[in-house]
Amino acid sequence: MAIYDGFEPVIGLEVHAQLQTESKIFCSCKVEYGAEPNSRTCPVCLGLPGALPVMNKRAAEFAMKMILACGGTVHNRSVFARKNYFYPDLPKGYQISQFDRPIGEGGAIRYRLETGEEKTVRLIRIHLEEDAGKSMHPEDGGAYTRVDLNRCGAPLIEIVSHADIRSPEEAYGYLTKLKQIVQYLGVCSGDMEKGHLRCDANVSVRPEGQAKFGTRTELKNMNSFKGVERAIKYEIDRQIKLVKSGGQVVQETLLWNEKKLAAEPMRGKEESHDYRYFPEPDLVNLVISDDWVNETRKNLPELPEAKASRFVSQYGIREYDAQVLTDSRPLADYYEEMMRHTSDGIGAANWLQVELLGVLNKTGEDITATIVRPKMLADLVGKIASGEISGKIAKTVFAEMVESGKEPSVIIKEKGLVQISDDSAIIPIVEQVLASSPDNVSKYRSGKTNVFAFFVGQVMKATKGQANPEAVNRLLKERLDA
Ligand code: ADP
Ligand code: MG
Ligand code: ZN
Repeated sequence: MAIYDGFEPVIGLEVHAQLQTESKIFCSCKVEYGAEPNSRTCPVCLGLPGALPVMNKRAAEFAMKMILACGGTVHNRSVFARKNYFYPDLPKGYQISQFDRPIGEGGAIRYRLETGEEKTVRLIRIHLEEDAGKSMHPEDGGAYTRVDLNRCGAPLIEIVSHADIRSPEEAYGYLTKLKQIVQYLGVCSGDMEKGHLRCDANVSVRPEGQAKFGTRTELKNMNSFKGVERAIKYEIDRQIKLVKSGGQVVQETLLWNEKKLAAEPMRGKEESHDYRYFPEPDLVNLVISDDWVNETRKNLPELPEAKASRFVSQYGIREYDAQVLTDSRPLADYYEEMMRHTSDGIGAANWLQVELLGVLNKTGEDITATIVRPKMLADLVGKIASGEISGKIAKTVFAEMVESGKEPSVIIKEKGLVQISDDSAIIPIVEQVLASSPDNVSKYRSGKTNVFAFFVGQVMKATKGQANPEAVNRLLKERLDA
């Protein structure tokens, strides 16, 4: 705690996650990233007079999945509310959100720090709301700010944590876990660059040992998890310096500037009464039966921890490898697809983690996009296990797979890389190697058996590494010890 000079940071995060539904939350417009500006709009999401919203059932189901996965309570009846404020990308002049009666409350997110220490962050609530559009400000010198309303009405859940977080690193760990959960559930892409996950951070500091929270500020506009971590770190330092020099933290909203690595005041902190919330008159209450809740709970997909322990017992891999392989769902799916084509769980895990991920880390390519398909990599692993090729040759084959996307069997055939395991093919080479080194043969026979490696090397060289090492060893020994 010494790093904070007698102070303790207190942090609570508000995370917006865009739900991966086909259509928007209150109309049938498509939710599509990168479409031509304002082409995915209709009278409802444009807020034209007389247009009426209709709730998207799938959005409620997705919100429920997240609430249940975090161990929270889904309310049988929740209420939509108008949050009134003016903004150019909010054509109605209000946002449909939930206020005092959200769809879900409670629950927690548990995660591990890099040190291995386990942490729990309790959730206050999860509620449904619609997104606003996007304002595109001129980069430099342009005269106009342009508004794209395609995102208007995209479904969001807001996940509000208790102020249980105590450091920037913890905030990072919490967000990483949250992203993993929404991805596993398939309710959100988790893509922060596309704005599918957005995080506001509430930060305060208090003297160590004090129970009461200090005055907080709210940080906005971070566009990566590392950015959130940096912004929080900056703000903690600023507040501690301020308090130590006799000043007082003012409750306000700050905009993080990633270029300047500084947070700049945006506005005084608004209170909920500023928004003049009232129940949305155009929508009925959201009613969710116990049956629907139970059905949703029953259909929750396997979450990372459960998958990792199943990988250990089902495929015989180490706990650590199972953790790595279940880190993201696409990676876990890749491994599991491999395991449909090979029985060598350990081999598959090694080749995936060391070789394929090694390449992808370098190219920045996504596991879902690589031309090396799970079955191809599994086939390669199978060929090593069966002795068709050696591990060394497999690396050559793999390099070619990454380049051309060809099946391993095709590459092995084209390049003539099949391992030579047939004794009758190896014996002549063994005999030739022995015949051409009578000195070394005598050395070996006089007890200097360390020259054995020399013979193995010669045979491998003569076969371009394709001789089966086990056979080479055996055949050499037979002759030398005769
Ligand atoms: P608002 O709706 O005005 O943003 P909430 O009370 O709903 O305020 O809290 C929003 C977030 O701020 C929550 O994540 C909460 O844990 C966090 N929070 C509240 N008080 C503090 C504080 N003093 N320091 C840090 N975080 C706080
Ligand atoms: Mg807030
Ligand atoms: Zn629409």
